[in-house]
Amino acid sequence: MAVAKRINLFIKNKNVETKEYTEVKDPGNFSEVVGLVAKGNVQHVDQAVQSAHKAFLLWRKVDLDQRISLLLKSADRIEEEASLLAELVSKENGMLLNTTKAEITMAVSGIRNIAEIAESSLQSKQFEDESSWVSVEKNPMGVIAGIVPWNAPMVLTMQKLAPAVVTGNTIVFKPSPFAPMGVTEALKKMAEFFPPGVINIVHGDGDVGAALTTHPHVRKISFTGGGKTARHVMRNAADYLKDIHFELGGNDPAIILDDANLDEIMPKIVNSVFKRSGQYCYAIKRIYVPDNLYDSFYEKMVALTNEFKIGHQLNENSTFGPMNNLQQYHNVKNLIERIKESKAMMVELGEQLEPDNWDNGYYLRPVIVRDVEPDQELVTCEQFGPVIPLIPYQTDEQVIGLANNTEYGLGSSIWSSDFDRSLQMARKIEAGMTFINGNGQTSLGYKNIPFGGIKQSGIGNENSEVVFDEFTDYHSINYHKSE
Ligand code: NDP
Repeated sequence: MAVAKRINLFIKNKNVETKEYTEVKDPGNFSEVVGLVAKGNVQHVDQAVQSAHKAFLLWRKVDLDQRISLLLKSADRIEEEASLLAELVSKENGMLLNTTKAEITMAVSGIRNIAEIAESSLQSKQFEDESSWVSVEKNPMGVIAGIVPWNAPMVLTMQKLAPAVVTGNTIVFKPSPFAPMGVTEALKKMAEFFPPGVINIVHGDGDVGAALTTHPHVRKISFTGGGKTARHVMRNAADYLKDIHFELGGNDPAIILDDANLDEIMPKIVNSVFKRSGQYCYAIKRIYVPDNLYDSFYEKMVALTNEFKIGHQLNENSTFGPMNNLQQYHNVKNLIERIKESKAMMVELGEQLEPDNWDNGYYLRPVIVRDVEPDQELVTCEQFGPVIPLIPYQTDEQVIGLANNTEYGLGSSIWSSDFDRSLQMARKIEAGMTFINGNGQTSLGYKNIPFGGIKQSGIGNENSEVVFDEFTDYHSINYHKSE
């Protein structure tokens, strides 16, 4: 029998073994143990943060050119290992292999983009008049705690790592227990290029997260995950007045305007709803359809969604994978049960590729729900799974009100053949990001466009030059000239 892969903690560029290890199971095939992950404790967190703190005192003095060059070399290393890493991540988090391959490509190009804009983004500014000279400088903060979820672990980890370390900070990551292995393997390979202590990883339960977010040497918590956890983190941060950066969940509306070409947009809509089996933060989570297009939109969407082939994430014929974990599976399944009890009408779609394996993984079918009330649970919650409500509307003004009637404000989308009209509608939406005729950043992406949410979808942004504000302190030096 093959020996399961063991993943240790990683502190000061050394593997650290622990007394206990936790099994990571394949969410698409419970009989498969993907590996064993070390279970750290509060002392391990202290070791990791102390090592990051010591490393910071030297790393901050390394020239920016040198930091950029090391970051770029580490990105090349990840690219070399992309196939192996993709397979490992897909096995542990249940995302289709092609999706994970694309995620790693995106993570690598994201790192390179950050390296490219680091110098201009970190420039200090000088001002002078008759009586004074001032320099406004950007300095690294110190030890960053990076906390990431399981759904897109590679890209979400690298979006924190690259700007944090290139700026001169050091970092301690706590990956999700539902996707700890790929990220650890990737970070260890990258860490070879950096001085020991710049990149550290601690795995473990709630005590580890709590210890990391309360450690006195941690200056900033950069967290991606759910709002409930973010509130815990914020409370912990409050005791030490730590800086926070939150990338949280959403309930992203898609508004179909009555001039939209349904045949053209439908493949993009279906993909934006059901990619990662609906488990990504800016997935379309509710669709508003004008009355006169409602039936044809529904029919076209059902027909296309029914083409999904649901199976194991590594089966090359699968186009739709399992849920990531038991909690996720129950949340979505229970939500579906409650919809069945409501007046709304739902259809479960797609083909089971491996019916014999169905109960051996967290498999669910894609579900479309019509005739939904605007305030029904499915419309107001973040379902984070493959269930989508179609809500009819009558006027542009009404649909903007419905779209904005939420505590969330991450993404949103408008679908229309009319640029001016869709732009006007987009400007009325309360969200960090609005996409027109697509659901994701355009090719101008990382380098130019901040990624983040407003309201309860986040505090702060990733990507583009604004991310450097998350990882720097401003220091103004004011010189008074003699009279
Ligand atoms: P969680 O909030 O449950 O967990 C996120 C991370 O926080 C995990 O690593 C978790 O580890 C850790 N954590 C939990 N409790 C604490 C604590 N008290 N202190 C420190 N760390 C803690 O989210 P999920 O992993 O379930 O991810 C899904 C959520 O993430 C969704 O709401 C989704 O929308 C959001 N998300 C947002 C994105 C964005 O960019 N805006 C991108 C992707 C996802 P552990 O499990 O060990 O507790």
